[in-house]
Amino acid sequence: QLQNKISDCSFYNSEITNKMIMEQKLCSLFDDSIKNNDFHVYIQPKINLKNSETGGAEALVRWFHPDRGIIYPSDFIPLFERNGNIIQLDLYVFEKVCEYQKQRIDSGKKLFTISVNLSRVHFRNLNYLRPFIELKNKYNIPDGVIELELTESIFFDNQQIELVKNAINQMHSYGFLCSLDDFGVGFSSLGLLKEFNVDAIKLDRKFFEDITNSKSQNIIISFIDLAKRLNIHVVAEGIETSEQLNFLKSVNCDMVQGYIFSKPLPLNEFEKWADSREN
Ligand code: C2E
Ligand code: CA
Ligand code: CA
Ligand code: CA
Repeated sequence: QLQNKISDCSFYNSEITNKMIMEQKLCSLFDDSIKNNDFHVYIQPKINLKNSETGGAEALVRWFHPDRGIIYPSDFIPLFERNGNIIQLDLYVFEKVCEYQKQRIDSGKKLFTISVNLSRVHFRNLNYLRPFIELKNKYNIPDGVIELELTESIFFDNQQIELVKNAINQMHSYGFLCSLDDFGVGFSSLGLLKEFNVDAIKLDRKFFEDITNSKSQNIIISFIDLAKRLNIHVVAEGIETSEQLNFLKSVNCDMVQGYIFSKPLPLNEFEKWADSREN
């Protein structure tokens, strides 16, 4: 039995070692991948439930690895948060979104607010917003058409509250909208709404997994009611079924994002999708 344990253990160790080697390989590819445009920006629409129109969209990154094919964010974002590359990656995604908005402006098309995810790593630097502002100016992006999504987990450290509060005010003063992602999953959600002037909260999909359960329903209703009282929009994430959608309509949720309407799409496919719904 001991022998088994020992071999389990070395198996486990080699698993960890393999994982570390793989992660190191991925990390070493970063610079080349940025240069070769191997990171692609996908866009997933948000639907406004009041009028069924496209109410906005979220930019989500994918990595097209020359040998391994498509890699999803959960397999590389944590690595790049650890080695700091996430700063450059988020800016890359942000610039692609600016380019896209600029293109829509130049062709006289209606603009949707597009949100970009901002890792909490940015907040380590007090001047983190500077390069975002510079890009917004470079592409002549009007106010109110780019939203920055912060995950609630940035607030687990109480000392950051003042910092993030100022950061959000600064975002607003430069014409960005700001939303709180994965709301309700973390630590101190409700209190944060008092401190932070966010425009929207995004309710995590786990709240909708069990939509016929009356407890789940009451929690969702309470979140929506609370947000309404504070004048904050609510986006329900990860909506896949008509049961979920009908319930959210019945309780006046503002917006829905999920496979029921569309998966995240490459920019050109999103463009076609959005234009076809406009007519
Ligand atoms: P998130 O910001 O909470 O994004 C929502 C995730 O849910 C996305 O996963 C999206 O593809 C997925 N999703 C959307 N609708 C549905 C649905 O109906 N059902 C299911 N099962 N899933 C749905 P994705 O694209 O794999 O991204 C995962 C996470 O990686 C994101 O979670 C976000 O935290 C992070 N991420 C993605 N792109 C970026 C980025 O450019 N920068 C940073 N810092 N983080 C990013
Ligand atoms: Ca997000
Ligand atoms: Ca989320
Ligand atoms: Ca998430």
